Amino acid sequence: MKVFDSISGLQQYLAEAKKKNRTIGLVPTMGALHKGHESLVKRCAAENDECVVSVFVNPTQFNDKNDLVTYPRTVESDCALLEAAGCTAAFVPSETEMYPEPDTRVFDLGPVAAVMEGPRRPGHFNGVAQVVSKLFDIVKPDKAYFGEKDFQQIAVIRRLVQLLAFPIEIVSCPIIREADGLALSSRNTRLTAEQRKIAPVIARTLNESLALAPKKSVNEVIAFVTDTINRVPGMEVEYYEIVDGYSMQPVTDWSETAYPVGCITVYCGEVRLIDNITYAN
Ligand code: AMP
Repeated sequence: MKVFDSISGLQQYLAEAKKKNRTIGLVPTMGALHKGHESLVKRCAAENDECVVSVFVNPTQFNDKNDLVTYPRTVESDCALLEAAGCTAAFVPSETEMYPEPDTRVFDLGPVAAVMEGPRRPGHFNGVAQVVSKLFDIVKPDKAYFGEKDFQQIAVIRRLVQLLAFPIEIVSCPIIREADGLALSSRNTRLTAEQRKIAPVIARTLNESLALAPKKSVNEVIAFVTDTINRVPGMEVEYYEIVDGYSMQPVTDWSETAYPVGCITVYCGEVRLIDNITYAN
């Protein structure tokens, strides 16, 4: 595996690969890699001749300064994981390499970015669009891989691809979970032992709610999930919405969508955890 910290170094390497008609896959990450990221990297390596993984804690997508400062950074173990998973080129740029001057671009991300995480994390999706569009321009991959854990983010990326006409296939990959159901996340390392013990209630409750739909109404299912989790001391649901899995718009009746997805954000103490589940319809 080659490791690049400069855009020009990576581009020289990729130019050689493209000359040989090698296909290129990209997995954007913010590091602190775990088995969730690993699943994306393995799939990318299996489906492409070159598997490029970026490791960059993108400051422009953090609306909470404290979250940025405390975000875990583990570049050495990240590189070991990447090499073992089949990454051929790791891209680990500095902040000035990615943003030699402030990125002032504002993207029209439309309705998919206007709900759920959008209003609650102002600027977040625009920052994601800034860094991902930049990575797409640098790498020009054939395919790019994103995890369904960040369910709304995939819709935003698809919108970005459409908006800027990137000739890139977006591949969405299933959520990887701990044995007790907790969705893997770099932020899980910030949970105390006590919080780690209660955090699986999120996935467990989402799973239990599957049995309620569609007999119970959308609002009843939302109330069940919210109340069950809020009853656990130390946990607070920020929102639970059941949306159409393509448009991200909330539904009030199961008949409004063929693809109902429940998206949740929960504060476990200070740690903000997200998860989602797809209801059969
Ligand atoms: P991040 O480093 O958090 O920006 O995540 C990089 C990519 O890994 C994103 O596309 C995430 O959706 C994906 N990812 C993070 N956690 C998981 C997980 N538990 N299962 C699947 N994909 C994940």
